[in-house]
Amino acid sequence: MNTGLYWFEHDLRLQDNQALSQLLQEVKQAHLIYIFQPKWFVVNDFGHCAMGQHRYRFLRESLHDLQQQLNSNGQQLHIYYGEPDTIIMKLHEQYEFTHVAKHFHTGVYECNQFERMSQLLQSDKVNSKPQVMTANSYTLFNENDLPMSVANLPDVFSPFRRKVEKDAKPQAPIKLDLNYLPAPCESEPSIANDLPKILGSDPILAKHNKTVQQLIGGETQARAQMQYYTFGTQGLSTYKETRNGLEGWDFSSKLSPWLAAGCISARQVAEWINEYEGTYGANDSTYWLFFELLWREFYQWQQYKYGHHMYQHKGIQQHTPTGGHQPDMFVRWCNGSTDYPIINACMRQLKHTGFMSNRGRQLVASCLVHELGLNWQYGAAYFEQMLIDFDPASNWGNWQYLAGVGSDPRGLRRFNLAKQTQTYDPDGEFIAYWSSYTSL
Ligand SMILES: Cc1cc2nc3c(=O)[nH]c(=O)nc-3n(C[C@H](O)[C@H](O)[C@H](O)COP(=O)(O)OP(=O)(O)OC[C@H]3O[C@@H](n4cnc5c(N)ncnc54)[C@H](O)[C@@H]3O)c2cc1C
Repeated sequence: MNTGLYWFEHDLRLQDNQALSQLLQEVKQAHLIYIFQPKWFVVNDFGHCAMGQHRYRFLRESLHDLQQQLNSNGQQLHIYYGEPDTIIMKLHEQYEFTHVAKHFHTGVYECNQFERMSQLLQSDKVNSKPQVMTANSYTLFNENDLPMSVANLPDVFSPFRRKVEKDAKPQAPIKLDLNYLPAPCESEPSIANDLPKILGSDPILAKHNKTVQQLIGGETQARAQMQYYTFGTQGLSTYKETRNGLEGWDFSSKLSPWLAAGCISARQVAEWINEYEGTYGANDSTYWLFFELLWREFYQWQQYKYGHHMYQHKGIQQHTPTGGHQPDMFVRWCNGSTDYPIINACMRQLKHTGFMSNRGRQLVASCLVHELGLNWQYGAAYFEQMLIDFDPASNWGNWQYLAGVGSDPRGLRRFNLAKQTQTYDPDGEFIAYWSSYTSL
């Protein structure tokens, strides 16, 4: 009997999940897994972990939602903690899978991981070699849909955008019929209870702060948010005017955490925008949300093109940036105790909630690079740990851009913080709100 293994990673959803759907069509029994990896919890060269408490909470909620959806359709999700190679080989020994699948992701680490798993499963050590499958639904377009090869991808956003808008169409989302899921493999319980308890208890502010109160992980909540922002409040119709806000639930879509965890796909969002435009009409704002998805798309394929350069000090331009590491100053930036009130408010918001607006992210990155003269990689690594919506391409790509080593044709971006404060927090409400929160 055909038996499959599916490894969820940045695709914590059942609908519009190409790799999962393809596997499920091939098998009569399936073992569905998620792996928390020990290295996510280890302090890296920049003094941070890849996984911080806010994203950890969001991920566990997303897995819970996935588990519930699967359970109510006769399937199960098994959550493991350990090295993927070891876990997968052990499971293969136990079940002798005929098919193994994982979704495609443009990250260096993700590509290497998939490559290693494929090699291990095809190696001489393995008696019954499974068919190893992958498919993409993390990006709007498949690699073959792009109107240029990845090697010829423009290094600047505008030509990329113009070309894909003219010559490419996002893939339509695909549907999975939950009535016909393959049966679960008989198995011992997984070891979710052994997950590390990091950084003390879960953040309580997430439940109370007005910007993040509804950032609850899972596919169910992702669709609810999409519905809320479009047909619910019709916030989408004014997105272009409101998107530079600093605090509040409605100024932007807030879809990033769900997109990063894969609780919703960019293709589903694009389809939703189209449907909304069909009902309420298209305008600059409805277009602008798609425009921002194209930024996300651009960074994903840049990451695929440039690999490790995406995370290196000299960036994709291989140009030495200004700035060095000064531990004391860097800690002040992290804790929101610099000489710049707007930066302090943004950094405290990040620390306490795991979220920061796009405007805030631009300001704090500009401050780190230009006002404080620090090494941008430390800022990017801190964001990686803290952001609830961390996505490797969007994070490191945006940081490079602001540090002048990435995909910005104009070179360094330096924001005038006094002017920005005047424009985006004219009454000082945002600064006042966060000044009451401790900086540590
Ligand atoms: C220094 C820096 C670091 C960043 N790190 C991340 C990150 O780790 N993860 C992440 O998802 N976004 C990142 N962004 C992009 C952006 O700030 C967030 O996507 C956005 O603030 C999320 O809020 P939203 O979903 O309400 O966005 P909206 O304004 O509603 O935009 C809709 C979606 O478009 C995409 N998007 C919007 N702006 C950008 C952008 N500049 N680059 C790439 N995609 C974009 C996101 O998927 C977002 O959810 C970063 C930006 C900067 C300047």
